[in-house]
Amino acid sequence: MAVILSGKEVVEQKKIDIRRRVQQLKSNGVQPTLDIAMVGDREDSLAYIKGAHKALDSCGIECRVSSYPETITIGHFIGEIQKKNNDDSVHGIIIMRPLPGSLDWKMVEETLSPAKDVDCITPSNLAGVFSGLRDVFYPCTAQAVIDILDYYHIDLKGKNVAVVGRSMVVGKPVSMMLLQRDATVTISHSKTADLEKVVSAADIVVAAAGKPGLVKDRHVKQGAVVIDVGINFVEGRLVGDVDFDSVEMKASMITPVPGGVGSVTTGVLMEHIAVAAENICINVKKI
Ligand code: NAP
Repeated sequence: MAVILSGKEVVEQKKIDIRRRVQQLKSNGVQPTLDIAMVGDREDSLAYIKGAHKALDSCGIECRVSSYPETITIGHFIGEIQKKNNDDSVHGIIIMRPLPGSLDWKMVEETLSPAKDVDCITPSNLAGVFSGLRDVFYPCTAQAVIDILDYYHIDLKGKNVAVVGRSMVVGKPVSMMLLQRDATVTISHSKTADLEKVVSAADIVVAAAGKPGLVKDRHVKQGAVVIDVGINFVEGRLVGDVDFDSVEMKASMITPVPGGVGSVTTGVLMEHIAVAAENICINVKKI
């Protein structure tokens, strides 16, 4: 039976440091603030915002939400992002995805200031992840996976890691980050011919496919460490990309859903907002 790697424990540890830094910023007259831009009113976006709001509030970080109608033009939306870039009271900006098809994502990601890009969507921050720079914001979820592995002292050097999924949000950046830690990384995707063969060779599995219960016990080597990034709603229940009940019997360690990667992702976001606020303060010599 696997040891459960609690994300809640990791995030509680992070919160101690975040609260201290937020306090320091506030004592210098700075209120760390995140601005979330949302187009339309998707249910999953609203659920994310509600969760983020609660978590940020618990650490003294302000969370503003700017809502726009789906009819907004790309010119107007770009103008709104530029306003946020130039607003000194905003330290981090998140743009909820997906955007309506009428809004060109490439134009949006190129407009956002990398200094406020706390979830790594801008080409320059992404380039930093792929080239291994440390002074850029890494994608929060990918960073959360690494932070969980670090917190539980799981050594990555020379380990075979199977990443299931190749999105720019999770799969690709986390693979680059694992590679920087000297892991031997295999990336699989929907066209992978034999998922079982690839994944069952791994010491560590990172599942980020968005397919409920895709990774089953037959995919997992005895004693492997399994990190489940998936967030899926099935019949009103939150489940991951790993078939927890069967894999738990075979893995040595496993993250739960909920209470795993998702909890830590919000913690990483708060760390990034604190860093963004500190950086801006240093630039204007307030701190
Ligand atoms: P995505 O953009 O839909 O990408 C999914 C990836 O999985 C794609 O690369 C896809 O391959 C691959 N895939 C799909 N079916 C597969 C299969 N049968 N075998 C192997 N690979 C398969 O999703 P995402 O944004 O990366 O998110 C992945 C999951 O993580 C979702 O459940 C999402 O909700 C969750 N998530 C969690 C957090 C968090 O904080 N915990 C944050 C972000 C996302 P192709 O490239 O070939 O299509």
